[in-house]
Amino acid sequence: MAGSMNTAPDRWPGATWYEATTPARKFDHLRGRHRCRVAVIGAGLAGIATALGLVERGETDVCVIDSCAPGSGASGRNGGFVFAGYSLDNDALIGQLGSSRARTLHGWTRQAVTLIRERIDRYGIDCQVNDAGVLLADWFGDDAKLNGFARRMHEQLGFQLDPVDRRSMRDQVDSTRYGAGLHEPGSFHFHPLRHIQGLAGVIEQAGSAVLADSPVRSIHSANGRWRLRCDDGEVEAEEVVLATGGYDRRLCRSVQRALQPVATYIAVTEPLGTMLGELMPAPVAVYDTRFAFDYYRPLPDTRLLWGGRISMAARSPAAIRRLMARDIRRVFPSLGGIRFEYAWGGWMSYARHQMPLLGQRSDGLWHALAFGGHGMATTTLAGEMMAEALTGNDRRISAFRRWPPQWAGGALGRAAIQGHYWMCQARDWLRDSHRRWHQRV
Ligand SMILES: Cc1cc2nc3c(=O)[nH]c(=O)nc-3n(C[C@H](O)[C@H](O)[C@H](O)COP(=O)(O)OP(=O)(O)OC[C@H]3O[C@@H](n4cnc5c(N)ncnc54)[C@H](O)[C@@H]3O)c2cc1C
Repeated sequence: MAGSMNTAPDRWPGATWYEATTPARKFDHLRGRHRCRVAVIGAGLAGIATALGLVERGETDVCVIDSCAPGSGASGRNGGFVFAGYSLDNDALIGQLGSSRARTLHGWTRQAVTLIRERIDRYGIDCQVNDAGVLLADWFGDDAKLNGFARRMHEQLGFQLDPVDRRSMRDQVDSTRYGAGLHEPGSFHFHPLRHIQGLAGVIEQAGSAVLADSPVRSIHSANGRWRLRCDDGEVEAEEVVLATGGYDRRLCRSVQRALQPVATYIAVTEPLGTMLGELMPAPVAVYDTRFAFDYYRPLPDTRLLWGGRISMAARSPAAIRRLMARDIRRVFPSLGGIRFEYAWGGWMSYARHQMPLLGQRSDGLWHALAFGGHGMATTTLAGEMMAEALTGNDRRISAFRRWPPQWAGGALGRAAIQGHYWMCQARDWLRDSHRRWHQRV
């Protein structure tokens, strides 16, 4: 049943590598009555970027409230890839909007990548930025298709991807698994939990509130003001932004019924010492051209962070270790016996159309949800657009009206997503088998 599925952050037992490498930080808890102009529910990057966007525009009467702590949801436990684009793939975006409009909307995500990088420098956030960037590696060895994709992105979106030929790929990743690749200039990878906690600190320093361990239980509006009820207190606000990701579907059913929470998994190896540099001579973050791709990146303490799979199920760390061990062996056979010291999962939220849900309900409640697996740049963009709208300029956010909240189908919708995933996985497998067969004959 949709309503009974537990997608609370504590569904994933055990600390993440990110938690183990982030200095402990205490945030206030909501007690008693609090008044503010804008209340943001959810201190993931969508909520934090909204609050920061307001603070940077001079609006500091803001309060962000989270059930746990900033970054306890997907925003503090993800792969750490910061790159352009939406969950809806670029070709589909062009198909829906035409080249000119798609170029504008895609361009906004590229600007968001730059903004994240600028803020890290501006606020001196120590989040292990690695500017080696993000590399798309071709799983199928299909140079013509890869080059065609790069050409389309350039011609239709003005999005320049740098080609990496087969020989040069081995200077980046020492695996026989891949054909050629595409490198995204300006992209980078980082420690997402340190990043979001750093931003939360900036918001607090500006005089706004970031409140932890305070799940919002209900929202009501009366006489033009909103009341948010928590266990030990209440917040009264003129405006409310719902930014609860895939971690809540009960607070505002009319919007959240448009979401499906989808899980993906990460495991982190023991330190690999010099072996890591041999396997990954360039410290890039890598994903591949399959629908259900691996995503991985080297960490500063010589561990390898390995992510992959999407599923409708929360799995135990032991099960995640087994799955990731199988996947890592296909790319780096020499890591067959490696020990994973950390394993966890997280919930992303998806709308049926795979674009973010951004806008305002008829009663005035704002929402910033459904960023899927492409959430670092798009949540930052959403925060900017939300802050613009809350300070009187809704030009950009209104572009998202064409992707409204539509019922995501409940349990049936979840079964359909899982079925679609398996079908795409089978299609990828067939394509790969075909390639290997051709190589043999
Ligand atoms: C394992 C994993 C790997 C990923 N890798 C990448 C990647 O490498 N690059 C990339 O761009 N994207 C990646 N993503 C996607 C990206 O992390 C998400 O799209 C993005 O973080 C979503 O941000 P959010 O703010 O919408 O949600 P979240 O970060 O999930 O935040 C929602 C917050 O709302 C809070 N909340 C929920 N209900 C309530 C309530 N009732 N009251 C108060 N607070 C509440 C939760 O505690 C949570 O902190 C990944 C996601 C996962 C799970």
